[in-house]
This record gives sequence, structure tokens and C-alpha cells, in this order.
Amino acid sequence: MLKYKNNLLFIDDVSVFDTAVKVGTPFYLYGKKKLLENYKVLDGAFCKVNRIICYAVKANENPQILKILAEKGCGADIVSVGELKLALACGVNSQKIVFAGVGKKDDEIKEAIKSDILMFNVESIPELFRIDKIAKSLGKIAGISFRINPDIDAKTHPHITTGLSHNKFGLCFDEAFEGYLLAKELKNIKIVGLHLHIGSQITDKGSFELASKKVSGYIKKLSDAKIKLRYIDMGGGLGIRYKDEKIITPAEYAQAIMSNLPENHTIILEPGRFIIGAAGILVTKIIYIKKTSKKNFLIVDAGMNDLVRPEMYGAYHDIIPIALRKGEKYNWDIVGPICESSDIFAKDRPMPKVSEGDYLAILCAGAYGYSMSSNYNMRPRPAEVLVEGKKWKVIRKRENLSF
Ligand SMILES: *Cc1c(COP(=O)(O)O)cnc(C)c1O
Repeated sequence: MLKYKNNLLFIDDVSVFDTAVKVGTPFYLYGKKKLLENYKVLDGAFCKVNRIICYAVKANENPQILKILAEKGCGADIVSVGELKLALACGVNSQKIVFAGVGKKDDEIKEAIKSDILMFNVESIPELFRIDKIAKSLGKIAGISFRINPDIDAKTHPHITTGLSHNKFGLCFDEAFEGYLLAKELKNIKIVGLHLHIGSQITDKGSFELASKKVSGYIKKLSDAKIKLRYIDMGGGLGIRYKDEKIITPAEYAQAIMSNLPENHTIILEPGRFIIGAAGILVTKIIYIKKTSKKNFLIVDAGMNDLVRPEMYGAYHDIIPIALRKGEKYNWDIVGPICESSDIFAKDRPMPKVSEGDYLAILCAGAYGYSMSSNYNMRPRPAEVLVEGKKWKVIRKRENLSF
């Protein structure tokens, strides 16, 4: 997506420098071409099976991004009524919406049932009963899957509730089995599938293989108990390259998942990061160059309120200048203006020559960037801009905090 032309950074045919001058910094810049490419490659990897790609809205909930995906037939993995309303407003087919989360509230469940979503990914038994009760009051039938937590190894951790009490997400296989038996008897519940989501930024193919193996054995067990599933939702989690990780290709991912699963099901995938992560950058400007006896700082105008991943997860992001200058490389701590010592994007990072006022691009910032941003320090959230071929447009204005 990114390349230098005459020492200036471009996304497709748009100069990042020109955009920065016009939009002001900081702002997120996304490439539509790359976004669609990611979606197509992943969808294509599963072309041999019935499938629904449910984009994880929490990765990036910009309405334009969602609309682009919905137009291609993409579904949505949602975790709140806000995401539900947004997905519907952006044209996502309600029968391609799946709803996860350990703390779904009554009004959220109600709204989702009324909207006729495909299924709730149920994370506890009380939630199952709550959904049934609300569905009954609406005279509706709600589709459900249980969210399995396959990290609980039945051999070393027998299905005891103390194990679960420390574990927020999903149910272990045995508890979910009990759940399915209960669900079978509930009049306003329809069992439609099974769900799991084993984590995020996964780069180990073996984890997906193991998950699908466990699931395939489990489906057989359910089938023996006369519980038939139509959908197998393998969640999201496919990792991307932030630094030098060896990542799983979509083809390898599909192979890892599909080689173990029976074929007569519809596969659901919930990619977030893979779709939008590498399709976005955060553009920021160097406000000051501060050299102390111990450290050399580049103080930039983006902060941890704009992109919290480095602060929150110790995440690595490549950072590159938007205009390449001649001169020696130098090591910098690249920091934001927030009043927290942890507001650091990079430590001792070698950078080509830079000067005050230069723009920098923080790469692979499309996922969990804007969506996790905040107003901490009373800072307005940044603008979001989309590149489409030779053109670009602001798809969310910079926030205006006024009184
Ligand atoms: C966050 C999340 C996803 C998306 O994960 P990625 O790593 O971004 O692909 C999918 N499903 C569920 C249930 C999630 O919580």
C-alpha cells in the first residue's frame, strides 16, 4: 500500500504529505484498495466452503469502512448495541450479524432479537436464560451458539466452576455441552451453531489447528446427543506483520481450520485486525526535538489517546518519515504530548534524518487505533481519511471539543 515516490510517501496515488498539510495532524489514513484486498484474500482462501465473513467491528468502526465491507457482502461481529445499530445503518445484512460479549444487557439483547440477527454467541448459562426470556416476551425465537473456551484443557482442569470463575470468556466444552442440552428445551431458543475465539494477533498456525481439531471432536459429541449445528464460528485472531513476525497466510489459515472440520457446515470467521490493520496509518507531526543528557526525544502531536496499543500492549509499530531527507540515522524515543510517562510510541528507534515540523507515519495502525482512542487530557479524537485511487476524503472529522 505504501511507497516512496521522489522521497515522498504515497498511499496508492495519494501523497501523504499533501493530505497532512490539508487535514492537519494527527489523523488516520486508510487505503481502500488494501482494505478490499485483505477482505478478498481472506474470503477467497475459504472459497471451497460455505462461509460468512463477519468483520469484527471493534477493530475499526468507521461507518465508511463498514459500508465498503457490507457492499461486498461482509457480515459483522458485534459486541454492543452501538455496534449493532452501526452495522445495520451501514447496510450489513442482519442475518450476517453475530453478537459476542460476556455482559450483554437486556436492552441490547432485545434490540438484537428485534433486528433478527443471525445468532448470539452465548458466554454463560444465565445469559442463555435471559435471551430466552426476552425472546419470549417479544414472541420471537433467538438463534444461539455457545462460545467455547478451548483453552481449558478438560484433562488437567475438570469442568469445575472455580476454573471458570477466573475466566471471563466463554464456557469450557463440558459446560457448553450442558448449555446445549438446556438450550434444546427452551422454546424461544434455536441452537444454530458453535463459537470460539482463541485470541488475537495469532501467528502460530498450530493454535488454529488444535482449536479446529477440538471443535471437530466436539461436534461429533453434540451430534450424538442429537444436537445439530449449522454454523461453526471460528472467531478472529489472524495476525499481521507489525515488525518481523512470521505470519500465517490466509491460505495456511484456511488449511489449518478446514482440514479438521466436517464439511457440511457454514464456517463463520470474525477477522478484525487482518482486514483493516495494515490498511491504516497514523500520521503525526514532530512538534519538538528534545535532546537531554540521557535521551533524545522526538515529541510528536499524536499521543496514547490516539493510538494506545504501544502503551497498552507494549505493541511495536514501524514509524517512518513522510519525506525522506539525506543525512545520518539517529536513535530516538518517539513520544506523545500526554502527561503520562508511558506515552511512548517507540524507544531508541533508529530513524533517518528528521527535523522539527516533519511528518511521521505510524504504520499498521488501522485496527484498534481509532476505535480505542479517547479524549484523555481533553484531546479531540483525530480525523480519519480514506484514500481511493487518486482521491482522498475525510471520513470522520477531527473532533471539536468546544463549550
Ligand atoms: C476482538 C474479537 C475478534 C477480532 O479479533 P482480531 O484479532 O481483530 O481478528 C473476533 N471475535 C471476537 C469474539 C472478538 O472479541
